[in-house]
Amino acid sequence: MNSFSGFRVNERSRIENTLSHLPCTYLIRDDVQPPFMHIRVEGVRGLPLIQQGDDLPALISERIEFSDGDILCIASSVYSKAKGYTKRLTEITPTPRALRIAERTREDPRFIQAVLDASTEVLLEYPFVLSEVPSGHIGVRAGVDQSNIENGMVIFLPPDPMAAAAEVREDIRRLTGQSIGVIITDTCGRSFRRGQTGHAIGWSGMTAIRDFRGDIDLFGHVLKITEEAVVDEIAGFANFVMGESNNGVPAVVFRNCGNWEGHDNLYFRKEEDILRKLLEDSG
Ligand code: GDP
Ligand code: MN
Ligand code: MN
Repeated sequence: MNSFSGFRVNERSRIENTLSHLPCTYLIRDDVQPPFMHIRVEGVRGLPLIQQGDDLPALISERIEFSDGDILCIASSVYSKAKGYTKRLTEITPTPRALRIAERTREDPRFIQAVLDASTEVLLEYPFVLSEVPSGHIGVRAGVDQSNIENGMVIFLPPDPMAAAAEVREDIRRLTGQSIGVIITDTCGRSFRRGQTGHAIGWSGMTAIRDFRGDIDLFGHVLKITEEAVVDEIAGFANFVMGESNNGVPAVVFRNCGNWEGHDNLYFRKEEDILRKLLEDSG
């Protein structure tokens, strides 16, 4: 079989699939040597509907076994529900600004107010609110969700997703003794392309970026630009396993991703972000 032709589920993972706690096993196989060419991705199924106060790390580690070096991706929506970063729309009184934006976007002004409350800077109001949140992440509607929660409720992004990832990592270490990496994900739109993908909004236990600058390519050229946003790549695949609607899989574990070196400057500085500058100049 051509090892690049797709996911190949081998005998071992077929057996593991029969275990209820290991339901979604993908195996990307390759016979090439580097350890990261043989990555396993497992969705954590069987988690309940998450309520404020739930111990998410405990619920997850009861359902999947961790080993040192694993990477656990958690949907920000469930992390926020567990922590109570949610609000009832009836508790929100829209300001005149929210009323004005909501009239144009044809959304609930209380929802727009929630988005404004979550934002440190609004870059665009129409056709949708695009804004920065305290962590530096820029997202449509500040990442505020109305899905996968009861009617009339909104879910905010975790206010400090880096701390959230570090806390989950520490909790898993305490519960299992294993040292893992953690990525908090959210589904986001992209510039220039239709369709949403998973993005990392918080991470711990790895650098966000694998820095290839200074590396030599196959033809001896020194790479000058390439900084690979590894946490987003992993979050993208985690999001693929999670799905968006009623899958009920808010946590995904990656095994054998290997290590990389780089840095955590995932977000552009204001002055180097050309799209942001264009938006500001046009507004
Ligand atoms: P987001 O991408 O962080 O905004 O989260 P989504 O709403 O897209 O949900 C991601 C995944 O988690 C989907 O498979 C959802 O069905 C699932 N999910 C969301 N909330 C819950 C929950 O409370 N319990 C369980 N078991 N799954 C959930
Ligand atoms: Mn979301
Ligand atoms: Mn999603």
